Amino acid sequence: MSEVVKDKKHEDVTIDRHYQMLDTDRATEIIQKAMDLAREEIPNGHVATYIPELSKVDPHQLGICLYPLKGDKICLGDYDVRFTMQSVSKVLMLIVALEICGLKNVFRKVGAEPSGEAFDSLVELDVNDSRPYNPLINSGALAVCGLLLPEVSFQDMLRYAREICSDPEITLNQTVFDSEMKTCSRNRSIAYLLESKGVITTDVEDTLRFYTKMCSLDITAESLANLGKKLANDGVCMLTGKRFMSSQTARIVKTLMLTCGMYDGSGTFAIKVGIPTKSGVGGGLLSVSDKRAGIGVFGPALDTQGNSIAGCKLLREISNVLRLNLFYDPEWNREDHDDTVLTHMMDNSVGI
Ligand code: GLN
Repeated sequence: MSEVVKDKKHEDVTIDRHYQMLDTDRATEIIQKAMDLAREEIPNGHVATYIPELSKVDPHQLGICLYPLKGDKICLGDYDVRFTMQSVSKVLMLIVALEICGLKNVFRKVGAEPSGEAFDSLVELDVNDSRPYNPLINSGALAVCGLLLPEVSFQDMLRYAREICSDPEITLNQTVFDSEMKTCSRNRSIAYLLESKGVITTDVEDTLRFYTKMCSLDITAESLANLGKKLANDGVCMLTGKRFMSSQTARIVKTLMLTCGMYDGSGTFAIKVGIPTKSGVGGGLLSVSDKRAGIGVFGPALDTQGNSIAGCKLLREISNVLRLNLFYDPEWNREDHDDTVLTHMMDNSVGI
């Protein structure tokens, strides 16, 4: 590090190449400051209302858990509040599908390209290739569910979720599940369209129920950080040494999170934050700072793309100050790193 041009704005509180958080107390202070700043974004967002039960959630909540590969967890705000996993569960379903059904079978059903469309879009599904763009949007996840259904039960998935999230308290939120099942005509349309094209070959209503149950798992920001930490460590639990997925699966999942995890905001998010992240309309964000940390965020007020508005801001701040951007170069000088320019340039995209 002696050759590195040190910029004063960014003190040495990052997580080093040996996975060690250099100064937990200082990092906690910094994350707390970032939370205060991110909170200001909350009035610019709205909780999801298309699932009636989600409209009852308090939009002012914000919590984070950052879990370095080595070092103490940093938990702040509403990090232990339960909320539904929603689209973050697409990561779990993809992991299990890759592990059980294999790479070829998964990508025979679904592509690996960003869609540039809203998460619940049907546009493009009926033209050209019948495969959904990627497994991290609704159509792609429904296709993945069609693959999983003959192989695993919801109970199997619940068990896996509890283990990989190191959270035995994860349960199905029956109220949110019932609420979504009553209002899921878009997902139902997508699923029947996929059946008509031969992408879904299982019973459509069963597939839809399986998908919606996975979205209705009650988790916390802390459970997401635990999951993120295993992904950051190549699919292996640091504490027990247990492998939860192959290296290949971990790599594919992280890559897709970077390119497709934030729906039609994925490109801008990658530029501004540079940490593979998957969002859900429950307000959850699962972030993986590779070889460094798992991060879970909860902030239910969403931007227009359905991503946590304060959560994205929080991640952006943390990425900058803790130098977690995937492409961070210690040789950057301050001018290169002054992202007010970036904010002006990209003002019309994701609200972060
Ligand atoms: N259950 C939600 C749906 O299918 C998940 C969407 C999301 O989190 N973006 O619409």
